[in-house]
Amino acid sequence: MGLRIAVIGAGASGIAAAARMRAAGHDVQVFEKAARLGGTWRENRYPGVACDIPSHLYRFSFAPNPDWSMEYAGGAEILAYLDRAARDLGVAGLIRCGEEVRRAALEGRRWRLTTTSGDAGAFDLVIAAMGVLHKPVLPAIPGREAFAGRSFHSARWPEDLSLDGLRVGVIGTGSSATQIVSAVADRVARIALFQRTPQWIFSVPNRPIAAAKREAFAAEPERMRGLYDMLGEAMNGRFAAALVGRNPEALAEIEANCRANLARVRDPDLRARLTPDYEVGCKRLVISDRFYEAIQSPAAQLVTDPIERIEAEGVRTGDGALHALDVLVFATGFDTFNFHRPMKVIGRAGRDLDDDWAGSSRALRSVAVPGYPNFFFVGGPNSPIGNFSFLMTAEAQVGFIAGLADLVEAGEAPRLVEPREDATQDWNARLEAAMPGTVWAAGGCSSWYFDRSGKVASWPWTYEDFTASLARPDPAEFHLA
Ligand code: NAP
Repeated sequence: MGLRIAVIGAGASGIAAAARMRAAGHDVQVFEKAARLGGTWRENRYPGVACDIPSHLYRFSFAPNPDWSMEYAGGAEILAYLDRAARDLGVAGLIRCGEEVRRAALEGRRWRLTTTSGDAGAFDLVIAAMGVLHKPVLPAIPGREAFAGRSFHSARWPEDLSLDGLRVGVIGTGSSATQIVSAVADRVARIALFQRTPQWIFSVPNRPIAAAKREAFAAEPERMRGLYDMLGEAMNGRFAAALVGRNPEALAEIEANCRANLARVRDPDLRARLTPDYEVGCKRLVISDRFYEAIQSPAAQLVTDPIERIEAEGVRTGDGALHALDVLVFATGFDTFNFHRPMKVIGRAGRDLDDDWAGSSRALRSVAVPGYPNFFFVGGPNSPIGNFSFLMTAEAQVGFIAGLADLVEAGEAPRLVEPREDATQDWNARLEAAMPGTVWAAGGCSSWYFDRSGKVASWPWTYEDFTASLARPDPAEFHLA
């Protein structure tokens, strides 16, 4: 009955991978480190957590959802969607929760997996769908442990915490911090936002989707399809193309929106401090129609003096001020280049992925790595991490992996399918040559798109290029053994 396939991770991409492989008749097991599925939407439970991709674009094409309640859905609603999709697609029963894969090693023609529960058996093919933004980074600020109140990373929000009436500090100005501040500014006693770098903030209203419209979507799914296509064109044809230098007119429109949004800040000094000095789109664009109102509310304070240290009472800034706090939130982002660790991946001839990726991670078409046959990534190196709906990305990559699985299965015994080194080098040379044309590289900022070697790790071409590059594997790019 097909191949024996292990999927690592039960977030959106793992669910997509498992659903596709199961539908193709393979024997699939999904390993999930946590107690339930959901990936980023399980981890991020902070007040205001929502997706800034339109709801009707943030879904699998094979699991349309007429019931989205908002144009941009909240985290809990997306988690419920993933639960439902996993159940309806027959994936929920394949997930082994609480089993973190610690080691994957090629033994002969199969991959042996070891999880936190011990030996998990051997598999013909492994799909690592471990997400990108899931290893919280705490800042190396002196005194971090000295704080006497409650402090935690934005992705580790305590279940039992109410911020009502408290003095709250938030470090960071990315999407997470912006959503938190917008959600709580009117119910805290005081909120201090510690900003190291201002962000460009694009304003889009988030409106409820009327019940009548939802009923119409359920009754006539082709209307949903039409909306999906329209949103896809706006997102991929305009926004994403603008970021990679292929739609200057759209980039100018995005900038005009951000500047008009910023003009809502009435105090010129505050406005100046909130104004970035790099190009719009260079850092991951923050989407919010509420943040500037929130930061101008009586309880809010934008702190731009650099943080000197954290003390028992609060945060001490370079001007000598102590910002006294009850709660301190580190909205300081994720370790985006360590997504597969602490798992050890040992490939052909004892090769260790930690060594191969020590300087910079490299793959063929984001999916396959020389030396690691039949081990494939969703969300791997140079995936479009800042451009498209990640669910669309995952679906396209999973489709390509399905093609690779066909090549594995086409032999009398399962074959080893491994990208050629020359094809991988050529692919990465093309990526590098294209990168200077993107706003991430040319926009004059630092961001989590840059890896340790200074390489931008996103996708430098358009959505059409992305789907075309993953239409089907070209056997000439692979060794088939
Ligand atoms: P982030 O974008 O990486 O932002 C981290 C913030 O922390 C930055 O403002 C950074 O400042 C600041 N920071 C880090 N270390 C610091 C230090 N030592 N002192 C002071 N400030 C420090 O993280 P995030 O907001 O969690 O978002 C990560 C990504 O998740 C987003 O870019 C987005 O892709 C995704 N996300 C999406 C949504 C959504 O609505 N779809 C919501 C949340 C997150 P610098 O800029 O100066 O480095």
